[in-house]
Amino acid sequence: MRMFEISRRDLVLSAAGAYAAFGLAKPIAFIGAAEAQQAPAQTFRKYKVGDIEVISLFDGMWEKPHDENFIKGVNVEQTKAALKAAGLTDAHVPIPFTVLAVRTGGRLVLIDSGTGGGQVGGPKAGLLAQNMTAAGLNPSDVKTIVVSHFHPDHIFGLMAKDTNAQTFPEAEIIVPAAELKWWTQPVDSIPQPRRGLAQRIQATFPNWKNIKVVDGEAEVAPGVRAIPAFGHTQGHTVHLVSSGGRQLLVTADATNIQALFVKNPEWQAAFDHVPDQAVETRKKLFDRAIADKAQVAGYHWGLPNVGTIAKDGSGYAFTPSPGDAA
Ligand SMILES: [Zn+2]
Repeated sequence: MRMFEISRRDLVLSAAGAYAAFGLAKPIAFIGAAEAQQAPAQTFRKYKVGDIEVISLFDGMWEKPHDENFIKGVNVEQTKAALKAAGLTDAHVPIPFTVLAVRTGGRLVLIDSGTGGGQVGGPKAGLLAQNMTAAGLNPSDVKTIVVSHFHPDHIFGLMAKDTNAQTFPEAEIIVPAAELKWWTQPVDSIPQPRRGLAQRIQATFPNWKNIKVVDGEAEVAPGVRAIPAFGHTQGHTVHLVSSGGRQLLVTADATNIQALFVKNPEWQAAFDHVPDQAVETRKKLFDRAIADKAQVAGYHWGLPNVGTIAKDGSGYAFTPSPGDAA
């Protein structure tokens, strides 16, 4: 009996740890056996940064098939081991998408725009619209969209699938100058695999009247500052949300999923355009967040994706804050 009690207690404790580490909607101990077969429903989480409200919105999950070229110098077996060590599936690389909404100065701002109803990211992507509704947000209230970089999972939410018609024609869309410059150079100068995307960008952004180009570090909305963080792409930009002495560094794609790239900041994913610069940038951002006692958020960290970061051996460890799920 005693033995049973101890092991049951251990189970509950480890489940609570897993809950925090993997961003489950509720502790495993409270999930029924049938329900545990599927991923718990992720929708949104609400946070406060001083007077500013931040809402993380889940836009689904890409189950990326393993591929030997995904991480430079790291093979599929090592990748699987790292996923498993974090308690994740190793059947594929689970890459979640998370858009942030920010209520500031009486305005609703989005940081990035999601997959555009799953135009990219596989059949389990494209939940942003329904999760905005779940969080009590109306897409027509969005007045500003701040874009970190032009990869499809961050900008396809701005345009309709076949027509490229604007999804938010009434909103101001703020883009980094360096990013726009790189994607609008002559298509022949862009590496082959990225040319299709460059063509779509060239067919849309330069013709849109509501695009605002911001060069370098600048305030893009009340309490939201753009900070160049190049490497993932040539113009990749992160955002610092600050209010009342509190700070949240929204790191976009400075890393991909935590289990692989926060833990191993030197690992270079195939998504990084300038890999060495991307490594340097993510370390600099995390070190800044630690020094400034800022919270951090990542676009590919799943829910909850807001929390704190600490040094952990040769890498970093992210501790999520549960936030408010209602
Ligand atoms: Zn991304």
